[in-house]
Amino acid sequence: MGRELGRRRDKLIKEARHDIYEERVKLPNNTRCTDCGAVVLEGRWTWETTAEEVKDAQCPACRRVEDGNPAGYVEIRGDFFKVHRKEIINLIKNIGKAEKEEHPLERIVAISDEEGKLVVTTTGVHIARRMGEALFRAYKGDYELQYAEDDTSVKVYWSR
Ligand SMILES: [Zn+2]
Repeated sequence: MGRELGRRRDKLIKEARHDIYEERVKLPNNTRCTDCGAVVLEGRWTWETTAEEVKDAQCPACRRVEDGNPAGYVEIRGDFFKVHRKEIINLIKNIGKAEKEEHPLERIVAISDEEGKLVVTTTGVHIARRMGEALFRAYKGDYELQYAEDDTSVKVYWSR
């Protein structure tokens, strides 16, 4: 009885696209995002606060939100999902909260009900992947990951 309960596939999608939302920006220390308040320290966006002089800018996550161009797309569907809907949405929200705290550029953009499925969009690739991994780890099911070759966007499909 070695049959697995779940199934997962990783797919690479060739997509020659320059990442206009580069995370490792060369912005000076203490640059602050005017939308969310994230602050650049040593080349990374953080939630640190600063007493130093601040240069205003917009972080890549807020730019993605404003442009309506999420990096991550997570699609959740299936009969099991319908029954455990509340629990699964909670799992997604908890991941969103934890990721945002740890990585300022990894956030949920929206959780929306679409025809027969739940769609979660995110500002980062990592957070979307984590949602897929967590769903698969918790409930098995059918998990598919499609990521762009340049690693700037990812699509996650999970169903059970
Ligand atoms: Zn921001």
